[in-house]
Amino acid sequence: MRRGGGIRRGVVPFLTGTAVTALAYRQVFGSRSQLFGPFPFAGPDDQREVALTFDDGPNEPYTSQLLDTLDDRGVAATFFQVGVCVQRAPAITRRVVEGGHVLGNHSFSHSFTRYATRPRQRDEIDRTQALLYDTTGVRPALYRPPWLCHLPWVLSTIRSRRLQVVSGTFAHPLEVFQPPAALLAAGALGRVVPGSILILHDGREARGGDRQQTVRAVGLLVDRLRDRGYTFTTVDRLLGVPPYLS
Ligand SMILES: [Zn+2]
Repeated sequence: MRRGGGIRRGVVPFLTGTAVTALAYRQVFGSRSQLFGPFPFAGPDDQREVALTFDDGPNEPYTSQLLDTLDDRGVAATFFQVGVCVQRAPAITRRVVEGGHVLGNHSFSHSFTRYATRPRQRDEIDRTQALLYDTTGVRPALYRPPWLCHLPWVLSTIRSRRLQVVSGTFAHPLEVFQPPAALLAAGALGRVVPGSILILHDGREARGGDRQQTVRAVGLLVDRLRDRGYTFTTVDRLLGVPPYLS
């Protein structure tokens, strides 16, 4: 009895402490935290519109398959691509732009340590901007920081490059582990509300990886959202900002 009571006495504060820590983390660093400055995660909620976004590509053959899926359904999406991945598959990055999708910057190396200092952060942004321009002829105006890291000096560096920072809602917390497409789609469907900016991944950081289930899930998700009366837009349109710098 005493032992059981001791465990209970120990477990309850531990769980409470963990919950408080998780809540505090979310308030400060979460995808919806505005503590360090504007960090838009959604557009206006007065219309059943959703912006699908894809991070960490291009990553073949998945990005091509995704583009086929979207193009078959006449859906335009926003792609936040990583510089080193663009170097591997520049033709796919061109296809994104030529296909009427919007291209955004998602750093050069997707390396956490590159966020340690301001000059490195600036270099990550600038190298990717130059590469995307050389590859496609457009200069993205949208930037999504890796891991949605939005510490004050990260946000100020993004602003100093005249870029619009973009957050969003993760489609599914387990997407990285590629659960079955139906599960991914159902999870995403439960999170979409009018004005959502939904985050999916056609790659994994700068490492590529299998994204077969994500590709399948997107087809299911688009069809089900249409059944519910949703239309699809790009992040720039949803937020009322230009997609590219002049
Ligand atoms: Zn990423």
